[in-house]
Amino acid sequence: MPRLAVLGHPVGHSRSPAMQTAALADLGLGADWSYEAIDVAPNHFEAMVHSMPDQGFAGANVTVPHKGAALTVADNPSETAREIGAANTLSFVGGEVNADNTDAPGVLDALPDPPAGRRALILGAGGAARAVVWSLVREGAEVEVWNRTELRSANLCEELGGAPVVDPDQADYELIINATAVGLGDESPFEELPLRADGFAAGQTVVDMVYGPAPTELITAASEAGATAVDGIEVLVHQGAHSLRIWTGREPSLDVMRAAARS
Ligand code: NAP
Repeated sequence: MPRLAVLGHPVGHSRSPAMQTAALADLGLGADWSYEAIDVAPNHFEAMVHSMPDQGFAGANVTVPHKGAALTVADNPSETAREIGAANTLSFVGGEVNADNTDAPGVLDALPDPPAGRRALILGAGGAARAVVWSLVREGAEVEVWNRTELRSANLCEELGGAPVVDPDQADYELIINATAVGLGDESPFEELPLRADGFAAGQTVVDMVYGPAPTELITAASEAGATAVDGIEVLVHQGAHSLRIWTGREPSLDVMRAAARS
């Protein structure tokens, strides 16, 4: 019975077990495959990964704070994971650890329209922002990157493309993606980020990688302004579907995954 898991620290809040378990059941694999959440501290991560094949695991998703370590621990990182510098999907094949980054295709799949030629503002310079910038640059978007710590956005753009921006005007962009952690806690995006709640408009697409039990402030403001709002659960669903394809070779139902992730 192949096992799957999400490894994080903490990991109790993760929607991946419900989402992936529903997808596996819908594929008729529920009796054979299982998916669980495992809290693993950073100093135990590498040993945990190496012990997983012997415990019957076929693969794992990896979330905060292990995405960098997941790349380091891999025998065979994909080109995408290497270039982004982070992995969120591990597969155990023939005694070796393969690593992929499905956040990158996941965010593209969550967009309502292809981003080629669009002017895009990415907020953040951490792991999520790196996956987003890498994807959008490759798809031919005009990418600009703002980050609270300017040196990090400058370094990110030097490595992955796009142009750093210090004082962006949100009206100038067709696509705005929050890839910072703002919105996860009590901070307001309209205090911490260069955005105004009343500054969105119809015709813009606004993506918030952050998600919680209720729509984030950013998603609410963008929706109220008539912009197309894409929340972090939609991105989660698409990255999770890519992971499941890697492990099972099957095509999961996005509707089933979406319903489970949102329930
Ligand atoms: P990370 O590597 O820790 O990066 C955090 C980013 O947030 C940095 O750019 C940091 O700026 C910025 N930041 C943190 N607090 C801030 C504040 N008060 N004001 C302004 N900027 C602030 O985290 P990550 O892995 O990129 O993840 C970012 C978010 O995306 C998390 O909430 C994560 O859950 C979410 N995410 C969602 C999905 C999904 O499937 N929906 C996938 C991946 C990630 P500095 O550089 O200045 O510190």
